[in-house]
Amino acid sequence: MAELWYPSASRSAIAPVDAGSFTGGGHKGLFHTTEGATAAGAIAAFRSTGSWPHFTGSFEGGRFRIWQHIPINRAARALVHLAGHVETNRNNVIQIELVGTATHPPSAPGYLAGIATWMQWVEANFGVPHRSTVTFKAYPGSYGTNNGVRLSESSWNAYFGWLGHEHVPENLHGDPGALNIHALLQEDEDVPFTSQQLIEYAYEGARKALNEGTAFGTKSWAETSKGTLANIQTLANQLNGLQANLGSDTNAILAAIAALPTPAMPQAQKEQVADALVKDIPGLDRTKVLQALDMQAGNSSAASASGGGAPLP
Ligand SMILES: [Zn+2]
Repeated sequence: MAELWYPSASRSAIAPVDAGSFTGGGHKGLFHTTEGATAAGAIAAFRSTGSWPHFTGSFEGGRFRIWQHIPINRAARALVHLAGHVETNRNNVIQIELVGTATHPPSAPGYLAGIATWMQWVEANFGVPHRSTVTFKAYPGSYGTNNGVRLSESSWNAYFGWLGHEHVPENLHGDPGALNIHALLQEDEDVPFTSQQLIEYAYEGARKALNEGTAFGTKSWAETSKGTLANIQTLANQLNGLQANLGSDTNAILAAIAALPTPAMPQAQKEQVADALVKDIPGLDRTKVLQALDMQAGNSSAASASGGGAPLP
């Protein structure tokens, strides 16, 4: 069950009014900057103007703090909406006002870390995908209708991911300027994964899943897992030795998984391994992982039928 209130947020400033229910559109997270120096000043302004966001974040005195004003199943009020045009506030968007300015958007590592942690909660509880495909432009170039980065009404409606006030149609504001969205998404820029890293992820995912299988008390499976891991480690070492750069080629990764010398797995363990791998390797298709794991089953289907794996040679 999704949560409506961020557990780390203060509820000491609940908005007395919101913009109603959401009306549709891609799920979005949106940044503003308050153009002030304190959360207290920003919240006083919201009380005066009624332009409440869902959240206010600040990094005063070197400490990240966050307030939630509106639950995330209701629309906030910090965007302009022109009658007869596409919905803005009600367009499935979660809004946060960050204490700071569009000229100098938040950049302190502790501030960015607090925001990034909050983003993960929004992504998990409102279904905002972990991505941003817009450009956060430096202020004041980000101001105005024709700032070069503002979305059309249809693009706004269809957008899903993270963006800023500067991207919203019907609006003129240029906040939050050149916010470092790559740091907030914790993306490693310009560093593609190597095949070695991906295999290590696969190995770690398999190891975690195997440990879970052991913890769940499937004894026959546990007995084989030690040998399995040793063989995976051997293969991983071999792959490391190859140093072939497969980039983010998930087909190559699937082939590597298929080549892992795993015994036939009980279905429950296969699913755990698949879940762990899909969680660890972006873009990996779970069905294909299961198929790759199934490619091992022919060797020892009898053992599989008995619910455990045969000891490895
Ligand atoms: Zn704004």
